[in-house]
Amino acid sequence: KTFEELGLNPWLIDALKAMSIKFPSEIQKVCIPQILNGKDCIGGAKTGSGKTAAFALPILQKLSEDPFGVFALVLTPTRELAFQIADQFRVLGKSINLKECVVVGGLDMMSQSLQLSRKPHVVIATPGRLVDHINSSAIAPCLSRIRFLVLDEADRLLSDTFAEDLAVIFDTIPKKRQTLLFTATMTENILQLQDAQEEDPNRKPF
Ligand code: AMP
Repeated sequence: KTFEELGLNPWLIDALKAMSIKFPSEIQKVCIPQILNGKDCIGGAKTGSGKTAAFALPILQKLSEDPFGVFALVLTPTRELAFQIADQFRVLGKSINLKECVVVGGLDMMSQSLQLSRKPHVVIATPGRLVDHINSSAIAPCLSRIRFLVLDEADRLLSDTFAEDLAVIFDTIPKKRQTLLFTATMTENILQLQDAQEEDPNRKPF
């Protein structure tokens, strides 16, 4: 299958060409059509499988069709991953002037607040720092319009370390959204989510 057959618009295929990416990887073949069709998805994928593009491409396409309606939140366990994901969004979204914002610990809260107040299309965050912003309320208007929630490295995000932060985040963002979950290992709680979702595709994992 080609990217075109998966339903991607020509401008995204051009952006991929500029990165010398010609053929979709397995995870992209599975996830891109599902996400474009408005479905939730659970992808089993290691780093290096092309999982970032598997969610970034359909999100960018939806964004280009509705530039004021789509805001995506990508949660990831580490700062390094957050910056890598932001880089891919930036490169692929260049031609639509994508505004993205990285919200991670260890960097200045004030400058992150300023970026958030400019209503970025995509926020890429680690859970702890995002909760700091939710508590200081600067981020509320932006998060209330989230249409996509991505859980990158969900096996790590859904561990006890992040449980409290995730509960706050899930309470803050709209229930009506697409949830895209990517994980390197299928842990027991992710398998249960998958079973529940197959029984009822409209059910939100959280
Ligand atoms: P990831 O699995 O998201 O960490 O991606 C790893 C690397 O694979 C990134 O540098 C991407 O630019 C690259 N990549 C993504 N999709 C493809 C593809 N379909 N073919 C070749 N490389 C890809």
